[in-house]
Amino acid sequence: LGSKPTYPNVKGWKFTEKELTRLLSNRTHSEDLVLFKTAASATEREFGNETYFRGIAEFSNKCEKDCNYCGIRKSHPIVQRFDMSDKEVVDAAKWVAEYGYGCLLLQSGERTVKKENERVSRLIRAIKKETTSKTYPKGIGIILSVGEQKPEVYKEWFDLGAHRYLLRIETTNRDLYHKIHPSFNHSFETRVQCLKSLRDIGYQVGSGVMIGIPGQSLLDLARDLLWYRQMDLDMIGMGPYIHSQHTPMCEEFEKDYWQVQNNVTDKDDWDWRDSDFAQYRDMENWKRYRLTLRMLALTRLMCFDCNIAATTALQAIDPFGRERALEIAANVVMPIVTPKKYRKNYVLYDGKPCVEEGKEECRGCLQARVLSVGKRVVYDQWNDPPHFLRK
Ligand code: SAM
Ligand code: SF4
Repeated sequence: LGSKPTYPNVKGWKFTEKELTRLLSNRTHSEDLVLFKTAASATEREFGNETYFRGIAEFSNKCEKDCNYCGIRKSHPIVQRFDMSDKEVVDAAKWVAEYGYGCLLLQSGERTVKKENERVSRLIRAIKKETTSKTYPKGIGIILSVGEQKPEVYKEWFDLGAHRYLLRIETTNRDLYHKIHPSFNHSFETRVQCLKSLRDIGYQVGSGVMIGIPGQSLLDLARDLLWYRQMDLDMIGMGPYIHSQHTPMCEEFEKDYWQVQNNVTDKDDWDWRDSDFAQYRDMENWKRYRLTLRMLALTRLMCFDCNIAATTALQAIDPFGRERALEIAANVVMPIVTPKKYRKNYVLYDGKPCVEEGKEECRGCLQARVLSVGKRVVYDQWNDPPHFLRK
C-alpha cells in the first residue's frame, strides 16, 4: 500500500502513479476492504468522529457555459431558469446560522457579467450582516462556487468576507477536459490559473474531479490524485459522473448503446425504459461508484488533513452512498437549503436525491445518516480544514 507516513510528523502517504493505478483497479472485495479500512483509520486519526455540515444554497441555475455533461448547461432544452431572490438567500443563511451549520455554500451556474458579480457582493455583505452574533462574531462562513471569474472579482468577494472557494478541475487530462467542454469558452489552463489566483488571494481552495467520465482511464485518475497534492488543496469534493438526459454526453452514450452495440438506428426505437438498457446503465454507475470510493480512500491517505465531502451524487447510485463515504474518508456533508420550489430545476444529473425534500427534512435525514455510522456533527463553528490552519 505505498509508503506509510511516520506519525506524528505526517505528510500523508506517498504513492507512485503505478501504485495508484494498481490500487484503483482492485479486483477483489478484500483488497478494497484493506484500502477502505486504512483510509478510515487515517480519517479517524485526524477528525475523530467529527463531521462538518455546510448548507448549500443553489441560488441560480442560469449559466453562460455549456459543459457537455451538466443538467443546467446553457442550451439545455427543458430546464426552467430561476434566480432565488436576495431575501430568499439571506433567509437561507439565517436558517443555517440558527441551526448551527456554521457555513453556507453559495452555488450557481457561471455568470461573469458585472451585474451578477455585484449581486454576489451584495449577498456576501447581507449574509455577514444578518448572521453576525455572539456565536458567529464574523458571521457564518461563506463558501462560493460560482465558476471562473477574474482575479479582481475573486479578491472583492474575499475582502467582503467569503473565505472558501470550490472550483472543480473535473479532470486533469487536458485532452479529456477539452473533449467534455466546448472549446470556444473553456480552457484547462484558465481553470488552473483561477485556482492559483484563489490561493494567492488567500481563499481556502477546494477542487476535485468527476469519476467515470467516458474515455477517462485509471491512469488519468491516478494523475488526478497526484495533482491534488501538487495543488496543495484544502478541500476536495469529487463524485461519480452520472448521465444527465438531454446533454451531449448522455446522448452520445445512448447512441453508442443502441446504434453501436445493438444496431438500432431509428431514434424513435430507443427507449430509456428498456430493461436491458437500464441494467447496462446501472452497471456502469456501480463501477463509477466503486471507483469513487477508492478515489476517496486514496485521497484521504494522500491528503490526510483536507476536508473531504461526501457528495450527493454518491447517494444517487447507492441509497447509502454518503454513509459509505463518511465511513471511509469524508468529514463534510452538505445539506441542501435551496427552497423546495427551485430544486427540480437544479438537477445536474439523473436521479439527483433531495429534490422533493425541504431544508428541514434534509437536516433530519443527514443528521440521522451521520449518526448511523457512529459519527457526530460539530455545530456552531466554521470548521476550517486543518490543512489550511497548519500552513
Ligand atoms: N458552475 C459552477 C462550476 O461549474 O464550477 C458551479 C456549479 S456546477 C453545477 C458544480 C459541479 O457539478 C461541477 O463542478 C460538476 O463537477 C458537477 N456536475 C455537473 N454535471 C454533472 C454530472 N452529470 N454528473 C456529476 N457531476 C456533475
Ligand atoms: Fe454551468 Fe457549472 Fe454546469 Fe458547467 S458545470 S454548465 S459551468 S453550471
